[in-house]
Amino acid sequence: MSFASLNLVPELLRAVEAQGYTEPTPIQAAAIPLIIARRDIMGCAQTGTGKTASFTLPMLHLLAPHATNNPSPARHPVRALVLTPTRELAAQVEESVRTYAKFLPLRIAVVYGGIDIKPQIKALQAGVEIVVATPGRLLDHLQQKSINLSQVQMLVLDEADRMLDMGFLPDIKSIIATLPPVRQNLMFSATFSEDIKRLADQFMRSPEMVEVARANSAAELVTHQVYEIPAAEKHALLAHLVKTRDMQQVLIFTRRKIDADKLARQLVRDGLSATAIHSDRTQSERTQALEDFKSGKCKLMVATEVAARGLDIDQLPFVINFELPHTPEDYVHRIGRTGRAGSPGEAISLVSPDEYGFLADIEKLLKRKITRLATPELPASAARSSRSASGGDKPATSRSRSGSAGSSDGDTKRPRTSSAEGVAPISEEERREKYEASRIREAKSQGHRRSGKRSDADGDSAPISNHKTVRPHAGPAFDFSKPYESIKAPSTETSGDVAVAVRPAGVKAVRRVGALLGGVKK
Ligand code: AMP
Repeated sequence: MSFASLNLVPELLRAVEAQGYTEPTPIQAAAIPLIIARRDIMGCAQTGTGKTASFTLPMLHLLAPHATNNPSPARHPVRALVLTPTRELAAQVEESVRTYAKFLPLRIAVVYGGIDIKPQIKALQAGVEIVVATPGRLLDHLQQKSINLSQVQMLVLDEADRMLDMGFLPDIKSIIATLPPVRQNLMFSATFSEDIKRLADQFMRSPEMVEVARANSAAELVTHQVYEIPAAEKHALLAHLVKTRDMQQVLIFTRRKIDADKLARQLVRDGLSATAIHSDRTQSERTQALEDFKSGKCKLMVATEVAARGLDIDQLPFVINFELPHTPEDYVHRIGRTGRAGSPGEAISLVSPDEYGFLADIEKLLKRKITRLATPELPASAARSSRSASGGDKPATSRSRSGSAGSSDGDTKRPRTSSAEGVAPISEEERREKYEASRIREAKSQGHRRSGKRSDADGDSAPISNHKTVRPHAGPAFDFSKPYESIKAPSTETSGDVAVAVRPAGVKAVRRVGALLGGVKK
């Protein structure tokens, strides 16, 4: 299929060609005609599938008749609103919209917290057709009446699952209340939980569900590996792996901001170039960290979940989970950073005994056992300094074992914000951490296995099951014409897979054009 066959306006075809895209990705092929037909859409897709263009191109196509060079702000009302959970994602979506809209006189603005609100007010007052926003800052604008959403004809909720995870539901509802009741709604999410379905029921009109994921790219190009290692030795192993394997670009995940900073400092002391990205850093620090990482100035970027969400870093070869996330879906999101655009990638997890429960949950979700690698011989000095840096022989993760994400010292620190800037009072990560803490409490109260004990009968001291080192699968270069295996559209609800094809009330049809992580059974 070609982009031309999607009947997009010539200005968009030129923009797509300028990007070097030869044909639409599966989600683009499926979603674009439906959106152009003004249908509501629920898209089950992660970043990396081309989902941004799948809603941006038809959005611009529908707005093209309104494109005008007339300078009057009145001729540029907000007609499309895109909500994203994080600032980084908002900035990325805005960049994409600008790229695809470069041959159309449509105006775009991005609004998010953590930066001065005044330039945003100025941009909005000049008139813009498309606004990309995070919910908190958009509410600030609504309260200050610096934005008028009464002419919005299209609403996009990007990464809706993450927005709900972060507690944005009340904000989203408040924002939706200011929109015209008749409008087109698009919602994209990597997972479709009951909460997402409820949200869809509330604000969408008989949405079509389009489900797609990077089946082959993740299944074939990303190698999942685990080192089972005491928490106190993780840092030494990490430094050893980076050095001995000459890793040039590694995104490393910790659960907490304070640990991201600490680990980045330790790695710098090891002579490695490292930076940290999390929501306690100012927006300019975050932008700088990302730029340094993308440009290769910094080989290692230690990130928390939220900060890394949605980052589009081309051909990221390594993702290392210094700590496992508490929910298996987050593992899927984290490893979604690698194996992108068809490049092979490695997802390596350093798993201490207290995390075996989380690992078992991840394997359950992936429907596969992740390869265990034998821990290499670590230089004695590195292991020693690592232990002392993490406070003796106590596992470094013992703090987080309490399950009280966000409960200790630096974690609860407010982000550097100024009330004069109108920054949302609760940062993205604080929302997230509160949410995680409540989920952990809930899981505990339900007797969910979170004991930190190994899930099999061998116990903590069991030998590592597989000592074979697995090399990354050197798959072929990504070919957007053949990356996805089509799978039959399920006629009934399915569940238990990584990508759960659901049919929420009101969803007319499920179009499934790919499988996520190869986890969906055909
Ligand atoms: P997204 O899923 O929106 O984060 O996009 C992932 C990456 O795929 C981005 O770097 C896009 O520039 C790229 N991309 C989007 N659509 C296409 C296409 N049709 N052909 C090639 N690359 C694409």
